[in-house]
Amino acid sequence: MKGRAEELAEMVRTLQGWVNESRSIVFFGGAGVSTESGIPDFRSVDGLYNQKYDYPPEEILSRSFFDARPEEFYRFYRDKMLCLDAKPNPAHEKLAQMEKIGKLRSVVTQNIDGLHQRAGSERVWELHGSVHRNRCMRCGKAYPVEYIRDSQGVPRCSCGGTVKPEVVLYEESLDGRVMEGALQDIQNADMLIIGGTSLAVYPAASLVRYYRGHRLVLINKSPTPYDSHADLMIPYPIGQVLGQIRV
Ligand SMILES: [Zn+2]
Repeated sequence: MKGRAEELAEMVRTLQGWVNESRSIVFFGGAGVSTESGIPDFRSVDGLYNQKYDYPPEEILSRSFFDARPEEFYRFYRDKMLCLDAKPNPAHEKLAQMEKIGKLRSVVTQNIDGLHQRAGSERVWELHGSVHRNRCMRCGKAYPVEYIRDSQGVPRCSCGGTVKPEVVLYEESLDGRVMEGALQDIQNADMLIIGGTSLAVYPAASLVRYYRGHRLVLINKSPTPYDSHADLMIPYPIGQVLGQIRV
C-alpha cells in the first residue's frame, strides 16, 4: 500500500505535468483558500457557527437584516468579516505567479478578503464582492475598508448616507458582469483547478458546468459532489498542493 506522502507526490506530479502543458488555466476557489490564511469559514462547522451571536451568521449577513438592524450587522461585520491582518498563503502566491508568466487566465473566487490581489493577482472575479470596496448608498462616494473598521456604529458618508460594503449579502443578486466574465474565462479554459470549496454554494456548481476541457482538477480536503467528474482529485490542503507546483 502506498503511503500518504507518496500518494500526494504522485498527484502533484500529474498536476505539474498538466500545468506545464496548459496556457489558459482558471482557478476557482472557495472559503478553504482563505482558511489557510486564518480567515474563518462561517459555513463550516468549526467556523463561526459555533461562536456566540444572537442570530445565525446567514441571517446577520442578509440584506433584510442589514436594512432592519444595521448596527448589529456592523458589530458582527467588523468583528468577524474584516480580517485585515490576514496574509496571502502559498496558494495565493502561486496563482499570482502563474498569472504573471501567462499560464493562468484568471482567478474566480467566492472570498471577499482581497488576498488574491494582495498576492499580486490582477484578473480576479470576485463573485461575492469585496470588503475593500465600500460605497455610500445615497451619493455613491467610495470609502476604503479602514473607514468601516475605524468608524463606530453605522458608518456614515459625509452626505449623511449609509456606507455599505460591496459584498453580496444573502438575498442580494450577484453582479452580472462579474458572473459573465467568470463564465467566459471558465468556458475558454484549457484547465480548471477548483480548490477549497465543497461546490455546495450557489453559483459554484453551475459555473463549473461551463468548463468544456478534460483537465478538471479538484483540490479539497473533504469530498464534494463533483469528485466523480474530476480528472484529478487531490484530497489535501490547497496551499500544501499548489505550494509544491513549480512555475
Ligand atoms: Zn454620500
